[in-house]
Amino acid sequence: MPSISSASSEAFELRGVSKRYGNIVALDEVSLRFPAGSNTALIGSSGSGKSTLLRVLLGLEWPDRGEIRVDGALLEQAQVLALRRRVGYVIQEGGLFPHLTVLGNLALLPHHLGWSRERIRQRAEELAALTHLPSGALERYPAELSGGQRQRVALMRGLMLDPDALLLDEPLGALDPIVRHELQDELRAIFDRLGKTVIVVTHDMAEAAWFADRLVLMRNGKVVQDGRLDDLCKRPADPFVTRFVEAQRTLRGVSA
Ligand code: ADP
Ligand code: MG
Repeated sequence: MPSISSASSEAFELRGVSKRYGNIVALDEVSLRFPAGSNTALIGSSGSGKSTLLRVLLGLEWPDRGEIRVDGALLEQAQVLALRRRVGYVIQEGGLFPHLTVLGNLALLPHHLGWSRERIRQRAEELAALTHLPSGALERYPAELSGGQRQRVALMRGLMLDPDALLLDEPLGALDPIVRHELQDELRAIFDRLGKTVIVVTHDMAEAAWFADRLVLMRNGKVVQDGRLDDLCKRPADPFVTRFVEAQRTLRGVSA
């Protein structure tokens, strides 16, 4: 299978995608393109459809209407397992198994793919260095780590197979401000260094602008605006954009 970054300039594309849950419209005719190697932040209030958007890109949910293209090709059920190996997915709180050590959590998928113990450990140690997790932490259980360390492990798990793309759903949402700030710095350095296609969901605009030049603001399952921070601040597409921007208290210094 070709790699996401080489075969097409669009790593991911949604064309007229709609998804309902009963009466709730989670995605409403969304069309977006995510070029290979680009960084995008998805922002919007709780319930605006951000997580659903990531989940349809991963084949964890299927749209009612419209299509998903990955690497230029229509996403079909038969490709979903292969897709999971090429796209790292990191969620808030990490979703780690509490009864497995950090290494055990990191090993699950590579072990299933037939990697040797040595290869798994070597990759885990590389990623511990990249994410600044103390390497002694590999033998600990999730409950023996701080929230920030658990989030580092979740990121490591997303990177184990060296995916072409990373989809992160509020990866720092559960952390206190200082740890969050520190991890924002480190995550951005990791994104810059690895050059992968990144889509990160957050409801914090300052964090969004820190991670990505392109911000996609969602509301009620629709894209309200797709642009740079400066566009959202100075050329709002809708009064809601201004309300969303003005509701943020921490933008000073980020827009410079
Ligand atoms: P966000 O991530 O922006 O907070 P979501 O994509 O999680 O928003 O949800 C969009 C809407 O769809 C919300 O109203 C949410 O309650 C609803 N929703 C999401 N997933 C489900 C589900 N599995 N079953 C029912 N409703 C859902
Ligand atoms: Mg969400």
